[in-house]
Amino acid sequence: MARMAILVSPELCIGCRACQTACKSWNQLPGDKTVNRGSFENPPDLTPHLYNKIHYIEVPSEKDALRWLFVNQRCMHCDDAGCMKICPSPGALYKTREGAVATNKEKCIGCKLCVVGCPFNVPRYDEKDKISKCHLCFDRIANGLQPACTKTCPTDALKYGDRDALIRSAQKAGYEKLYGQTDLGGLGALYAFKDAPTLYGYNEKPGIPETVVFWHTVLKPLSYIGIGGVVAASLIHYIAVGPHKEPEEEDKKNG
Ligand code: SF4
Ligand code: SF4
Ligand code: SF4
Repeated sequence: MARMAILVSPELCIGCRACQTACKSWNQLPGDKTVNRGSFENPPDLTPHLYNKIHYIEVPSEKDALRWLFVNQRCMHCDDAGCMKICPSPGALYKTREGAVATNKEKCIGCKLCVVGCPFNVPRYDEKDKISKCHLCFDRIANGLQPACTKTCPTDALKYGDRDALIRSAQKAGYEKLYGQTDLGGLGALYAFKDAPTLYGYNEKPGIPETVVFWHTVLKPLSYIGIGGVVAASLIHYIAVGPHKEPEEEDKKNG
């Protein structure tokens, strides 16, 4: 079937955060304890219980005192997904026929390697040390429904549909090239940015770390045939994340 995607249009977003709430509601995710940090942006980052969030950006403007940008942050459902490339547990991360990168917590072994493989800092871990992230509402879209967040968005700042059709509609609206159109094989979350991606907190050219590519092409196949799989996984974790530290040691380091 045709690849599906979400088109994010920050220019249409009013920062109401209905998308955040709808996701929690559909996925029965608990609330996160928050504190007043002097910003409307809350929580400040994705959490194991928050699969998408609105990033509030204040930009100095010549015309007005300030320009506000609201951008929905989420899993990008990359075609060439770094998280899947590095994951040593088959089936813990998998592609659906719509193109979603979905998760199976039963198969997640809690190694956290997908954190290293993701160029967008998306995967989080729940209380049971299982991966937690947006799965593109695989349970809804498989039944012909749209994701809860896009259905709830009152302004069409989030639109779900056929990926090619979304690209065409954005081009018609004057966005010559979308962020994510070709990056990493094409992302499943496309962004209609008016300004440089860096202004919204995104890398111009997102890429998968070389260590992950090496793991995927050289070491991972060896692990499947049982030659040094654990050693290889430990090695790549050491290179990418660093040595394991006891909590006490870490606390002392942080004062
Ligand atoms: S954004 Fe990260 S977690 Fe989502 S599919 Fe891409 S690599 Fe995986
Ligand atoms: S697609 Fe579904 S799981 Fe992903 S952020 Fe939207 S509501 Fe949450
Ligand atoms: S629901 Fe739509 S308009 Fe409201 S914050 Fe989310 S993306 Fe923006």
